[in-house]
Amino acid sequence: MLTLEEIFKSSSQQLFSLFDPDEAKSIVYELIDHHFEIARSNYLSNRKRTFDAAELQQFNADILEVLNHKPLQYTIGKAWFLDRAYFVNEAVLIPRPETEELVVWAIDFASGKEVNHILEIGTGSGCIATSLALGIKKGSVTTIDVSEAAIAVAEKNIERHQAKIKVLAGDFLLEDVQEKLANKYDIIISNPPYIPRSEEEGMSNHVKDWEPDIALFVPDNDPLLFYKSIAHFAKDNLAGDGAVFLECHYKYAVDTELYYQSLGFNTVLKKDISGNDRMLKAWK
Ligand code: SAM
Ligand code: GLN
Repeated sequence: MLTLEEIFKSSSQQLFSLFDPDEAKSIVYELIDHHFEIARSNYLSNRKRTFDAAELQQFNADILEVLNHKPLQYTIGKAWFLDRAYFVNEAVLIPRPETEELVVWAIDFASGKEVNHILEIGTGSGCIATSLALGIKKGSVTTIDVSEAAIAVAEKNIERHQAKIKVLAGDFLLEDVQEKLANKYDIIISNPPYIPRSEEEGMSNHVKDWEPDIALFVPDNDPLLFYKSIAHFAKDNLAGDGAVFLECHYKYAVDTELYYQSLGFNTVLKKDISGNDRMLKAWK
C-alpha cells in the first residue's frame, strides 16, 4: 500500500528527468485526477489515502507512457479546448491554445450578425466545429477531414457535446470535393496542416513521434498549399459580409496575408499570446 503523497513524490521524481518541475507536477496531478478522481484542489485533504498495487497498475503504466514521450492527452485520452473536454487519440492533433484564440475571434465576429452557414476545413478532434456550433448557436456547421480515423474521433466528441454538425470525409484540395461544398458561408475557418516537412527534424519528440503527420505537414515547396486552396474556394463561396479565419505558421503568416490581398481580400493579421503572427482574418 502506498499513500497518495508517496505516489505523488515518486512519480514526480521520475518525470523530473524529462520535464521541468512544474510541468512534471501538473502531469502527476492530472493523472491522479484521471485515475483516482481526486482533483488537484483536493489533493492535500486526500494525501494520506492509500492505494494498493491493483489500483496503481494503470496509473504506473501511464507514467511509463509519459516517460516514453507519449503526450499526456493521448495517454489519458482527453484534451481541453475552450473549457470542454475532448476525447483524443493519435489520429488527431491535440487541440492547441492558439486555436482557442482563433475560435474566440470567429465567435466574436458572429455575435450580433446573421449567420446561416459555417464551414471548417480539417476537423481533427472536432474542437473548432463543436466550439462554433455551441458558441454561435446560429446557422449550420459543416466540417470536412480527409482522415476517416480523425472523423471517428470528431463524431464521438460532437455526440458527447450534443452539437449539431455535418461531418464530411473528403480531400478538400480536390476540385470535385470543393464543388460539393459550394454554398455562401458566413464563416470559413481552418487550422490546416502548415509545417514544412524540413522543420520536422527540429520539432520535439512528443509532437513529431506521436501526432499525425497528415495533420501537421505540408511539402517544403508549397507551405501555403491549404491557404491558397481555401482562398480560391472563399472567392466564390464566402457570403458578402462573411469572413475567413485561418491559423497560420508564424513564419508564413505575412506571406499568407499578402496572398489573400493579391486576390482582393481585405485582411487583418493577429498575434497569439506568445507574440507570434498566428491568425489571419480575410473578407471581401
Ligand atoms: N481542427 C483541429 C484542430 O484545430 O485542433 C485539427 C487541425 S489539424 C492541424 C489539420 C487537420 O486537417 C487534420 O485533422 C487532417 O487530417 C486534416 N487534413 C489534412 N489534409 C486534408 C485535406 N486534404 N482535406 C481535408 N482535411 C485535411
Ligand atoms: N500548432 C501546431 C504545432 O506547432 C501545428 C498545427 C498545424 O500544422 N496546423 O505543432
